[in-house]
Amino acid sequence: MKAKGIILFDIDHVLINIEMLRPFLKNVNEEKWQDQDLPFKDSVYEGAIEIIKRLQEDFELGIFSECGNLPYQNRKLSESGLRHFFNPNFIFITRSKERDARLVRDRLAGKYKKVVFIDDRLDQLKALKQVMPKLITIRVLSPKYINQKSDHKPDFQISKLSEIFNALEKIGV
Ligand SMILES: [Mg+2]
Repeated sequence: MKAKGIILFDIDHVLINIEMLRPFLKNVNEEKWQDQDLPFKDSVYEGAIEIIKRLQEDFELGIFSECGNLPYQNRKLSESGLRHFFNPNFIFITRSKERDARLVRDRLAGKYKKVVFIDDRLDQLKALKQVMPKLITIRVLSPKYINQKSDHKPDFQISKLSEIFNALEKIGV
């Protein structure tokens, strides 16, 4: 068990630039996407892997991601080359973060001193915070959700992933 706690990552707009994948998906028949080569590796944000490796020295790493298409999201995590950095016991890929927030809470219960959740959507940070009051939330500003309104005030806001080290230090994690 890593000393400092666990960091849960959202995938889309945090680790993976899904806008980059969109043009490829447009040309793929709904039933045929499984057979297509999609550039998942190239869609990982520059520097993200180095950041994950550095965080791994002190933290357990998990995933909390929402997507309407679960096989697609699972494939994205595997084929991007990211999956093996995360503890398989704490990879949560769901159709609704709001619905499954309690499941995440129960799985983590009592295991880690600090739990950090990093996401670009305020409503999704809020969904987990509501059931885990001690959760530390970090919002990544993504172009898509930059204007999202919510009554959730994240503990920290960063404009790119590399700022996470600074945020963790300021939060005292
Ligand atoms: Mg996202």
